[in-house]
Amino acid sequence: MASPLKTAEALPLPLAPELPPAAAAAEPAQVGSARTFSATRRWMLWSLLVVLIVALLAMLMWLAGRYESSQVQGVLERDAAEAVSDIRTGLLRNVQSLEALQTRNLGQPQRWETEARELLHAQRELLRIERRDSAIAPLQHADTPHRPPLFDRLGRSNAQADVALACTNARRASGPAYAPSYFVPQTDGLGLQVMELCIPQMQAGAVTGYLVATYALGDVLTEMVGRQLSHSRDVAFTDPDGTRLAYHGHARRGARSFSASHLLDLPGETLVLRMDSWRGGPDLFPNFLSAMVAAMTLALGCVLVLLARDTRRRLRAERGLAEALAFRKAMEDSLVTGLRARDLQGHTTYVNPAFCQMVGFPSEDLLRSDRLQPPYWPPEQADEYRMRQAGRLSGIPPPREGFETVFMHRDGTRFPVMVFEAPLIDAQGRQTGWMSAFVDLREQRRVEELSRSSQERLQATARLALVGEMASLLSHELNQPLAAIASYANGSINMLQQGAAAGPQGLITQALQHIAEQSQRAGRVIKSVHDFVRRREQARDTTSPDALIDAVMPLVSLQARKLSVRIRIALEPGLPMVHCDRTMVEQVLLNLARNAMQAMDSAQTGPRDLELQVRRVDAPVPAGATGVWVEFSVSDTGSGIPDAVAERLFTPFFTTKAEGMGLGLSLCRTVVEQHGGQLSFGARPGGGTVFRFTLPGGPVA
Ligand code: ADP
Repeated sequence: MASPLKTAEALPLPLAPELPPAAAAAEPAQVGSARTFSATRRWMLWSLLVVLIVALLAMLMWLAGRYESSQVQGVLERDAAEAVSDIRTGLLRNVQSLEALQTRNLGQPQRWETEARELLHAQRELLRIERRDSAIAPLQHADTPHRPPLFDRLGRSNAQADVALACTNARRASGPAYAPSYFVPQTDGLGLQVMELCIPQMQAGAVTGYLVATYALGDVLTEMVGRQLSHSRDVAFTDPDGTRLAYHGHARRGARSFSASHLLDLPGETLVLRMDSWRGGPDLFPNFLSAMVAAMTLALGCVLVLLARDTRRRLRAERGLAEALAFRKAMEDSLVTGLRARDLQGHTTYVNPAFCQMVGFPSEDLLRSDRLQPPYWPPEQADEYRMRQAGRLSGIPPPREGFETVFMHRDGTRFPVMVFEAPLIDAQGRQTGWMSAFVDLREQRRVEELSRSSQERLQATARLALVGEMASLLSHELNQPLAAIASYANGSINMLQQGAAAGPQGLITQALQHIAEQSQRAGRVIKSVHDFVRRREQARDTTSPDALIDAVMPLVSLQARKLSVRIRIALEPGLPMVHCDRTMVEQVLLNLARNAMQAMDSAQTGPRDLELQVRRVDAPVPAGATGVWVEFSVSDTGSGIPDAVAERLFTPFFTTKAEGMGLGLSLCRTVVEQHGGQLSFGARPGGGTVFRFTLPGGPVA
């Protein structure tokens, strides 16, 4: 099974839209400055947001504070107004009580005094009540029992002007009137701010006397307002110019104070009632609204901080991602392996630069979805590829070790590629297509071809050198005996021509003996060469026929690929083992296969099929020999062997090729015959040639 690739991890780019080339080729400096710009902008936006939120919250806090102040101020104003109204009511009630006192006790000074004292006892704010005649001269008076007599220290006459003023006003208005307040020092060193009230007594439209009452302003506040006053308030009478005349309350001050003033307009006197409210200790959250706003501010601040932290994390991740992306892009661009992704419909969704370079088409061309088939499929093989693609899309897994195929470059040249395919799995674990990696085999083939031809040349040179060496050895070794034989023969001829008389018969016999000796020597030389060749027999071992075929296949298929020859191997099952010199037999197979391929190549036209067949033959081959034999045949679809060539086929150094040596077939025959087999050839039915040779077989492999 092919190992699936994780889209998100291994290859994030394939299914992502390709970067435009301009963006991909952007200078790093440009990218850097763009990043700095966006970072600055982001910071500016963040700062603006923070400033706006802080301003908004500050405004909210201020508004909440103001709202709260206005609430407090409103309550204070209302309380002050109520206090003024209370005082006015109290004063009016007192006026009525005083008038009643006067009316009830006309001509009864004794009773008047008793009742006046009762009134003074009940109304603590009244310090003194006087009865005066129509000339404002005092007739009778009563002092409050709650304090020492008011005018003890200063004497009443000092206040005569104030009383006169009040009474004049009263007479003029024919009703109660007040005089402006004034300060009366007391015997205890303190003093009181007092105010005179004068009520005229009328009888038949004429003033017959006056009732004068003296109020202590401080006590007016205490008695008439003080009881309802809360602890956080104080109240005072002031002049219209702000001078404080009397005061009631707790002398405490807080961080915040509110003040409300209301006029107490009395006939003859106008007082200002001022009410102060204060708060103890600095109140951070004076009311619910402010507390809410503050809590919201705090929550908003927390959210902002969290957001900023999240953004920073996001930015860091973004930067990491961009770096990883750039790294992968660089890695992909530097790859020499072509990469291609296809979706499950077979459309190409991604190609890397190496792939584009390999096939010579730009990526836009390859990614076009309207294409019926990729432009790099050679037309003659398109059917086969289509079938393979259909198989892949229907779920047939590709071979794990990859497979070889041929692609077509834009210029029309075909080239071999190795393909490795794996399913493309997305982040959810679903297969979204196929990912393929391509390795261009052209260079590898070129190197293999180079090494093969140089190996062949080396072999040929080695063979030539061996042949040359043996030839010179033979000529050298044979030269002497042959020269000796020649001279003995010549001597004997001479002696025979001169007649028997010319020389003893014994000499000729001797010469003939020498000739015989020398020819034996020459024979030994030849035998020694024969032995040298035969010595290889010791290198024989038992091997299976398919092992022999397997050993030559790499070299044979190399050349076959180069010459576009298709190879077919047919091995009969249950073949026996063969006992042979493996190297030599492999050499025979190689020679025959090479000759066959060259014959097909020079034929130019027609199919190019090379068939290697191995079968068992029980017939007596060679004639006379019985037993098990294994027959190897190499058949080609070349132009066949003309009769003239066939006659001299095994003659050493006979060749029809420009670069041939003409030793191949003769060597093959020698090797086969040394093994006891036979090498033969014949025409192949349908054209071409078949070369067959046999080797003795052993037990079944
Ligand atoms: P070389 O291959 O060096 O020419 P060989 O002895 O192997 O030497 O072959 C001798 C000749 O036999 C070749 O030149 C060629 O003309 C001919 N020949 C050999 N095999 C074939 C074949 N399969 N088809 C046609 N001709 C062949």
